[in-house]
Amino acid sequence: MQVIRKIKEMQASSDRLRREGKSIGLVPTMGYLHEGHLSLVRKAKALSNAVVVSIFVNPTQFGPGEDFEKYPRDEEEDRTKLEAEGVDFLLIPEAREMYPSGYQTYVEVTEVAKGLCGDFRPGHFRGVATVVAKFFNIVKPHIAVFGEKDYQQLLVIKRMVEDLNFDIEIISGTLIREEDGIAMSSRNAYLSPENRRKATILYRSLKEGKTSFESGERRTFALCKTVKESLESVGEISIQYVEIRDAETLEKIEIVNGPAVIAVAAIVGGVRLIDNIIIVREEKPFCYL
Ligand code: AMP
Repeated sequence: MQVIRKIKEMQASSDRLRREGKSIGLVPTMGYLHEGHLSLVRKAKALSNAVVVSIFVNPTQFGPGEDFEKYPRDEEEDRTKLEAEGVDFLLIPEAREMYPSGYQTYVEVTEVAKGLCGDFRPGHFRGVATVVAKFFNIVKPHIAVFGEKDYQQLLVIKRMVEDLNFDIEIISGTLIREEDGIAMSSRNAYLSPENRRKATILYRSLKEGKTSFESGERRTFALCKTVKESLESVGEISIQYVEIRDAETLEKIEIVNGPAVIAVAAIVGGVRLIDNIIIVREEKPFCYL
């Protein structure tokens, strides 16, 4: 695995790969890698000839008072994990090269970035869209893989790719969970054992919502109420939102009669956690290859 820290070097390597007729798969991350990230790496590997994983804790997607400074980092361990997966390139750019002094260009996706996390993290998706657009120009991938763990982010990126005509296919990876059901996240490292136990309520409450849907409930306010009550059954959890949205557009819906996702965000022991469950998946047309 080649470790690249300079933007020009990555661009030159990508140009060479493209000249050789190789397809490039990109998995952007903020590091402190877990099985959720690695599942995306495996997907990228299956779908492309050369895999690039980027690790960059992107300052522009953190708001004031958020955890940018203390975000967990372990480059050595990440390298070992990626080597073991047979990753071809690890891109670790420097913040001062990504955002040199005088930097002033940002990408803003409007509607789909509003509501949900967009309301609680102002500027977050602007930072995400900007850094991902930059990585697309640096890595020049044919495909890029994003996890459904960050469902709104996935749709923001899909929208950006469509709107800005990036010639890149966005692939989604399913949300990977720990054995106790908690969604894998680098931020889980912040949880004390007691809060970690409490945090399992997020997935349990989402499953209750899904069960209610499967028993015939279609009204989103009733389904959200079930999820909220379940979350509230555990003390000291501060709910930011529980919402059911159209799974393809993220538009608000009152009745579930198509693809839909239940999304939650809550603060447990000072740690902001997000989770979601798709209650109806989009039916993809079967394609003959
Ligand atoms: P992050 O390092 O948190 O920025 O995440 C990098 C990528 O990994 C994003 O596309 C995330 O959606 C994805 N990801 C993070 N956690 C999970 C998970 N538990 N399951 C699947 N994908 C994940």
